[in-house]
Amino acid sequence: MSDIAKFTHAAYFSAKKHDGQTRKGSEGSPYINHPLEVVSLLTNIGKVDDYTVLTAAILHDTVEDTKTTAAEIAELFGEDVSSIVMEVTDDKSLPKAERKQLQIEHSPHLSPQAKLVKLADKISNIRDVIENPPADWPLERRQEYVEWGKKVVAGLRGTNENLENHFDELTARAAATFSVSA
Ligand code: ZN
Repeated sequence: MSDIAKFTHAAYFSAKKHDGQTRKGSEGSPYINHPLEVVSLLTNIGKVDDYTVLTAAILHDTVEDTKTTAAEIAELFGEDVSSIVMEVTDDKSLPKAERKQLQIEHSPHLSPQAKLVKLADKISNIRDVIENPPADWPLERRQEYVEWGKKVVAGLRGTNENLENHFDELTARAAATFSVSA
C-alpha cells in the first residue's frame, strides 16, 4: 500500500471509530475534527512529511477513546504506527490526576515521532479550551488546563521549532484572553 493510500485508509478508519463521539467543547463538534486538526498542524505548521507520524496522528486517540486495540492498528497500519499511537495513549485504568501527572513525567522520554504527535495534540486541545471551552468549565479550570499543557510541552521541546513557537503564541494569547475575561 502506498503512503497516501495507507494514510487515507487510516483517516477513514479513525472517522468510523470516532463516529458518534463529540468534542468536549460547547459547540459539540464531531470528534474526528480533532485528529484532523492535529494532522493539519503537523503538515502546515510543523512541515512534517513523515507518513508514519501523520498516520499515527490521525489514529492517536483511537485506542484511548474507542474500542480499537494496538494489535488492530499494528495489523492494518504497521508496528511503527502502532507503537507511536501507544506512546501517546494514556492508561485509562489510572485515576485522571495520576494520568495527567504521568504525561508530564513521560513526555521527555517519548520517541521524536511521538513527541511531534503530542505537541500538535496539545496545541489542538489548548486552542479548543481557549476558543470553544466546555460550557461547564469556569475560567480557573481553563487556566489550570493551559498550565498543565505547558508542563507537558516543556518535556517535548527541541522537537519542532515551528510547532513550539505556535504553542508559545497560543498560550500567550490564552493568558491575554483569560486576563481580559477575568
Ligand atoms: Zn488527541
